Amino acid sequence: MHPESAVSLARVRQHIDARRSAHLAALQRLVAQKSISSRNEGVVECAQLLRDLMAAGGIEAELLPTAGQPLVFGQVRAGADQPRPTVLFYGHYDVQPPGPPEKWTSPPFEPTVRNGRLYGRGTGDNKGQLLAHVLAVQAWLEVAGDLPVNVKFLFEGEEEIGSPSLAPFVAAHRELLAADLVLTADGPMHESGAPLVVFGVRGVMNFDLHLQTSITDHHSGNRGGVIADAAWEMVQLLGTMLDADGRITIDGFYDDVITPSEFETGLLTRLPFDPDQLARVYGVAAVRQPATAFYQHLMFQPTLTINGLSSGHVGEGTRNIIPSSATARLEVRLVANQDPEDLIDKIQAHVDRFNRDVRLTRREEDMHPSRTSAELPVSQAVIAAVAKGFGREPLIYPCMGGSLPDQVWTRVLGAPSILVPYANADEANHAPDENIRLDCFHAGICTTATLLEQLQRLDSTL
Ligand SMILES: [Zn+2]
Repeated sequence: MHPESAVSLARVRQHIDARRSAHLAALQRLVAQKSISSRNEGVVECAQLLRDLMAAGGIEAELLPTAGQPLVFGQVRAGADQPRPTVLFYGHYDVQPPGPPEKWTSPPFEPTVRNGRLYGRGTGDNKGQLLAHVLAVQAWLEVAGDLPVNVKFLFEGEEEIGSPSLAPFVAAHRELLAADLVLTADGPMHESGAPLVVFGVRGVMNFDLHLQTSITDHHSGNRGGVIADAAWEMVQLLGTMLDADGRITIDGFYDDVITPSEFETGLLTRLPFDPDQLARVYGVAAVRQPATAFYQHLMFQPTLTINGLSSGHVGEGTRNIIPSSATARLEVRLVANQDPEDLIDKIQAHVDRFNRDVRLTRREEDMHPSRTSAELPVSQAVIAAVAKGFGREPLIYPCMGGSLPDQVWTRVLGAPSILVPYANADEANHAPDENIRLDCFHAGICTTATLLEQLQRLDSTL
């Protein structure tokens, strides 16, 4: 324990309380500077403004060029004699286009406070959330003149266009970015209002299967029963890939799937689960039950999904044909430690075994799965900081069902990576009237300030 830092943290929290209006003003300045990456509108100007806001708060900050928009990099080293852990805060200062202006109650780039929220494009996604880190560090520097741990910031201007420059930059600057923890505050909190801590993502891999059995469709009477039917051959092939229990039957498909630890399985039992409500919200007859099976399949199991199927004729009128071609578009959601290259080889081998005429083509870039153990001391420090910052125990997701380029941190940089959304569940990100609740913004600042103190309690080698 470090009683001194506990006293400092109390003073830092008081300082943060006293600076609410200054913090809001800083966020308003940042939101007022548009930074639409998909249209290259105001992005560099926003990077410069962010750099200046950070520098004014006592953070060494600079713009680092990439092939696209600049990164804003900043750091503050703790003045301690002994080495201290380093946390890297990642975020993005670019925003989505505002969409139809008439759908906004107040103009998207004129940030406006209503009902305890700040409205404007980028308030929640992601300017309010990244600024929380900056303001927390600034508060520590103003109160204590020093930080409990070393901090680094990396804010990019291309997240809303798929982060094309991020992975290459991280790969080329591992030393500059080296950290014991990467923390990202992005996305919405849980709908119940509880804060969330997320420790991983599933990966994604897309491919097409295509089969051509003839140069043309044929009369299904004149030639029915004597030539191949592309539609049947395709569904038969697909039918060999999944058994009646929904288990994928491709050889070796589950080889690299990591079984969750007892601790991680235990976390699932604490997540809210109302199957009837979920079924209503999803508009389906039922969802998988019970809760542990639901979350196990969402977080720790891969999927093979048919995104689309196309063959023959289902339009108006009857065409009695034998289809000459069939296409299936498939997707795999991968879990740790499945590797897209390895899986595609296994799928190809399966296709070759059952139908050599089917052609497999990959589509788009793969995304690797990524997972950080929720049992690490640094993970426990983050959970504790969120509970104190928001004044409420967070829900803990060992992994989420969706995919994000989190592997940039866990694989390329080689650091634990944890996601903690600071924005309210109804932040309306990407939509009109995007907003962040001022109490969430404030709690985010308190969370980051608390995290710095929590990390100091850990050994310098985490
Ligand atoms: Zn976004």
